[in-house]
Amino acid sequence: MGTANNVLIFADIRNGTLRQVTFEAISVAHQMANGGEVHLAILESLDPNQIESLKQLKLDRMWHVDHPLLKTFNLDAYVETWVHLIDLLNPDVILTGHTALGRDVSPRVAARKRIGLLSDCIKLDTSSTYEFVFTRPIYAGKAYVQRTITKPPFFVTLRPNNFVAHFDTSLDQSIEIKTFHPNLSQISLRTVVTDVVRKVTSGVDLSEANVIVAGGRGVKSKEGFAPLEELAVVLGGAVGASRGACDAGYADYALQIGQTGKVVTPDLYIACGISGAIQHLAGMSMSKTIVAINIDPEAPIFEVADYGIVGDLFEVVPLLTKEWQRINR
Ligand SMILES: Cc1cc2nc3c(=O)[nH]c(=O)nc-3n(C[C@H](O)[C@H](O)[C@H](O)COP(=O)(O)OP(=O)(O)OC[C@H]3O[C@@H](n4cnc5c(N)ncnc54)[C@H](O)[C@@H]3O)c2cc1C
Repeated sequence: MGTANNVLIFADIRNGTLRQVTFEAISVAHQMANGGEVHLAILESLDPNQIESLKQLKLDRMWHVDHPLLKTFNLDAYVETWVHLIDLLNPDVILTGHTALGRDVSPRVAARKRIGLLSDCIKLDTSSTYEFVFTRPIYAGKAYVQRTITKPPFFVTLRPNNFVAHFDTSLDQSIEIKTFHPNLSQISLRTVVTDVVRKVTSGVDLSEANVIVAGGRGVKSKEGFAPLEELAVVLGGAVGASRGACDAGYADYALQIGQTGKVVTPDLYIACGISGAIQHLAGMSMSKTIVAINIDPEAPIFEVADYGIVGDLFEVVPLLTKEWQRINR
């Protein structure tokens, strides 16, 4: 595998906590740097406990970016800041998560810097000696392509839940934290964010959940999602939905999984009353184990399922909940 002298990661933070994909990116950065420097840039305030946990990650430097115009997310301000930091550090490789943030900011920054962008990568091939070879899905997940990078610098976004985050719990090294003040002015920002209204969601974050119980049009109503929510709670997972269910008003669009929704890679995906349209599969077919519950034995979802249950979800889902509770009593 090739070697990068300097890798820069842009952190993805939610409510003061680093998202799991940032830890995964740090592990990938170490593989790519192979002794070179690894820098982490943070544009939001971070919980002090999180800074402690970063000591186990062998970071060379953490850049805390501080500017009043970054207090709320502003796309122009983020693009400017990322560009400034890249100019300052001159990294060979820039990594971030293929999340809403990464998808929004990275193409603009790559275009501004005139550098290549490999988006939505799911695997780094470590067998190639001189080059970095990444795998990414194409045609809505129907095929995979390997892309080789020979010349730095380049930008890579990583699909969450596809890389293992390694922690060395024996390490307790101090991290050098530097503050960076980007040169931003209100006049250069094309939009003004006056307020951020967060959608209040309870339970596990869908894009980072290890278990997802997803419902489709077969759930038939908003209330029909109640047994799915109960199963998700006992499994410690999150509830998701097909676009069919969202379009019908049974579920919020924030829960939509698929080509035009969230892309998820949980350990366990339970699809209830979902037919398995290609656009839905694009968002969940990389799940490690797929269980499908459908009354139609010919439903295409069974083609990608590891376990299929032909039956009425309103009978099967409560039975699964009961059985899980029984064996965990
Ligand atoms: C450009 C584009 C983008 C799209 N993006 C997305 C996307 O991001 N995500 C997405 O999901 N879709 C997306 N779609 C829509 C997609 O094509 C399908 O229309 C949608 O996924 C269908 O949702 P569904 O499986 O819930 O509904 P249906 O196809 O109506 O399937 C319902 C299933 O429920 C089963 N069922 C009914 N009753 C029960 C019961 N009691 N118990 C068990 N099973 C039962 C039926 O047998 C059926 O298989 C997109 C489409 C387009 C054109």
